Amino acid sequence: MTDRFPLSDIGAADPTTEAFWTACGERRLLVQHCRACGGHQFYPRPFCLACESNDLEWVESAGKGTIYSLTTIRMPVTPELPPPYLLALVDLDEGPRLLTNIVGETATIGERVTLDWRDREGLPPLPVFRTAAD
Ligand SMILES: [Zn+2]
Repeated sequence: MTDRFPLSDIGAADPTTEAFWTACGERRLLVQHCRACGGHQFYPRPFCLACESNDLEWVESAGKGTIYSLTTIRMPVTPELPPPYLLALVDLDEGPRLLTNIVGETATIGERVTLDWRDREGLPPLPVFRTAAD
């Protein structure tokens, strides 16, 4: 299998995402908060998508959310993620929607989830989620 999209490329320092990756290294999930309109957004961008202000700050997510969409991946994409695994869109309670993984073999749309981390060799861990009763 070719490794066309090595996960090792994710996490490279970038002024827009550097704070996010640094926090991941401390197992803290940061999202951007707009001081102008009060909205939150993810993934990191240089301006607010809602109001176009660049007055953004980083805030730590409480790590709670709800599964918006979910699928089971059965095709190998990278050796670091052997199938099957759950790929999901999770709506954080703060508002942003993340493309992420759900730890475990089953979950359902609408289920509540809590933040977890997937360790990577030599790179910051990735935020993933696991089902959890609130
Ligand atoms: Zn805004």
